[in-house]
Amino acid sequence: MTMRLRQLEIALQRLGGFESPRPALEQYPTPAPLAARLLFMAYGRGDLEGRTVLDLGTGTGILACGAALLGAARVTGVEIDPIPLDVARENAARLGVEIEWIEADVGDLPGLFPDRTFDTVVMNPPFGAQVPHADRPFVDAALAYGRVVYGIFNAGTLPFLDAYIGDRGECTDRIAATLSLPRTMRHHTRERVEIAVECVRISRRVA
Ligand code: SAH
Repeated sequence: MTMRLRQLEIALQRLGGFESPRPALEQYPTPAPLAARLLFMAYGRGDLEGRTVLDLGTGTGILACGAALLGAARVTGVEIDPIPLDVARENAARLGVEIEWIEADVGDLPGLFPDRTFDTVVMNPPFGAQVPHADRPFVDAALAYGRVVYGIFNAGTLPFLDAYIGDRGECTDRIAATLSLPRTMRHHTRERVEIAVECVRISRRVA
């Protein structure tokens, strides 16, 4: 039997996170309840169980691990920074799930594995707060590799996302949520910042 939402939240809550997050890479962990929501959105659509899943910017692997717990057939996590990737490996080992970890820049991805495709991409990409358009290589890689994409985006930027995707895909589902970020980033002046986000499902338009 598969996990319920609350069970998944609890399992993900226990995972190790970023020890010293790097602002330039927008390293903020997805809080377990939001990660569980995004994953259940995909699960409910039949996009996780038995599927091949790619997690872009996997960080400490919360989305990759959650996808594996919900019955994905094969999960791959890509991350540029080897430090959180080590935590991701420990997290997977602790949960007893098998995940393929790849240390790479998402921007280099489209050429890297010309023969590979995935059923489903999951991601919580940088919002571009530090480096403008940092989310674009994520969207490009997601649409190059995945049939459907589940991402967490800053709600205010959704019109730009739609425009950037253009005729490559179509946003089919949206769930509004709030992301409460701890003040781990030096440029934040308050203890926590609340950001309106949306979990979005993008279906690739096949040419
Ligand atoms: N998926 C994780 C981390 C989200 S934070 C979670 O949901 O908790 C965004 C992640 O993307 C960070 O781990 C950051 O190091 C990574 N990242 C940023 N730019 C990247 C790039 N160009 N290529 C690969 N990973 C990148």
